[in-house]
Amino acid sequence: MPGSSTDSPAATSPPLGTTSRELARLVLVHGPISRADLGRRLDLSPASLTRLSKPFLERGLFVESAAEHGLTGRPTRPLDARVDAARFAGLKITGDAVSGVVTDLRATPLASLERELPGHGVDAVVRVVADVVAELDAAAPGAPLAGLGASVGGNVDAGRVVTRAPFLEWRHVPLADLLESATGLPATVENDVTALTTAEHWFGPARDVSSFAVVTVGAGVGYGLVVNDRVVVTADTGLGLGGHLPLDDEGPRCSEGHPGCSSLMLTAPGLVAQVTRALGHAVTYDEVLRLAAARQPEVVAVTDSAGQALGRMLGLIANLALVDTIVLSGEGVGLWEVVGEVARAQLGAERDPEATPVTLHVDDSGFVAWARGAAATAIQSAVYTLRLPGA
Ligand SMILES: [Zn+2]
Repeated sequence: MPGSSTDSPAATSPPLGTTSRELARLVLVHGPISRADLGRRLDLSPASLTRLSKPFLERGLFVESAAEHGLTGRPTRPLDARVDAARFAGLKITGDAVSGVVTDLRATPLASLERELPGHGVDAVVRVVADVVAELDAAAPGAPLAGLGASVGGNVDAGRVVTRAPFLEWRHVPLADLLESATGLPATVENDVTALTTAEHWFGPARDVSSFAVVTVGAGVGYGLVVNDRVVVTADTGLGLGGHLPLDDEGPRCSEGHPGCSSLMLTAPGLVAQVTRALGHAVTYDEVLRLAAARQPEVVAVTDSAGQALGRMLGLIANLALVDTIVLSGEGVGLWEVVGEVARAQLGAERDPEATPVTLHVDDSGFVAWARGAAATAIQSAVYTLRLPGA
C-alpha cells in the first residue's frame, strides 16, 4: 500500500516564505547551480543563502555538488536537487479514464498507465485513482511516494475541492480529502491546464523563460499563461475560455454556432468530424493525421485550414499576451507534425516584422504531459511545505 507513513497526510510544516520558495524552485529547475548565481538571482548574502538552504539540506531535498573554485579562489559547493529523494503520483481524470504517472522530484515519468472509468460516481472514480496509484507505486519502486496530484478539466478551489467538472458531471466534490482517505497520501487537486502549465514552468523546455504561454490541443483547446515566473490563475480558470476563439470567418460552425472557432478547427473531435464529412466515412484522429501526412487532398484541405487557424491563435496570443515563447502540448499535439509548416507561416504573417520572433516548443509527450502536470502540482506542494517522507 502506498503511503506507509503514520503521519496524517494533511500534516504539513508551515508554508515557506517567498524567498525560500523561489530558492527551492531555482535549485529544482536549474541545479546544480552555484551559490554565487543563486545569491545574485535572489539578492541574498552568502550568509542568508546558507541559512535559507539549511532546511532543504537537512530534509534531504538538496545536495551539495562537488566543490568549485570561484574567482576568489575559495571553493564553494553548488546546490542541486536530490531527484530520487521522493516519488510523486500524477493523475489526470477525464470523463472516460484515469491516466497516471509516477515521477521523481523533477517530474520525470518513471512509469505510466491508464484505466477506464466505470462511470462518473465519485466513489467509483476515487477507487480507480487509488488502484492506479497502487499499481504505479509497484511498477517503479524507489523512494516513498511523497504525494499525489490529480487534475480535472474544470474549476478547482484552493487545490482541494472540484467546484465544477462538466466531463465528470461533478459540482463541489472534496476530491483532495477523498483521495487522502483512500490512499493515505497528501493530495493536491488542480485544473488540468493550470497543472500542465505548472509542469512546463518548472520542468519544461521554457523553464528558463519567465513569461510564456501554453496551448494544448486534443479533446479541447487549452490555454495557460506564465507571467514573471507566476502561473496566471483567475476565478475563470477552468472555464476553458480559449476553447471557442474565432479563428476563421469562412470556417464551419461549431455546436454553439460560431464560424471557424477553435473548438471545431483545432480539436481532435472537430478535425475528425470535418474529415469524416469530407470523405463520407468515419475516421479516427490517428487516421486524420496519417492521411494528412500522406497528402490525401480532401484531408489536407481540412488540416491546412487547421494549420492556419493554429498560426492565427498563436499570433493572437503572442501579440495580446506580450509573450514571445509558446509551448504546444496536449494529447492531440501530433497535429503539429502535419500542420507545423502552415501554422508557422501564418504565425509569421500575424506578427509585426519588427516584433521578436516567437519561439515555439512542442512537448510531444501526448497524454503523459497531462498526468505529469498533475505530478508537478504535488511536487510543488511538497517542496513548498518541506513535506517529504522520512524527512
Ligand atoms: Zn465555438
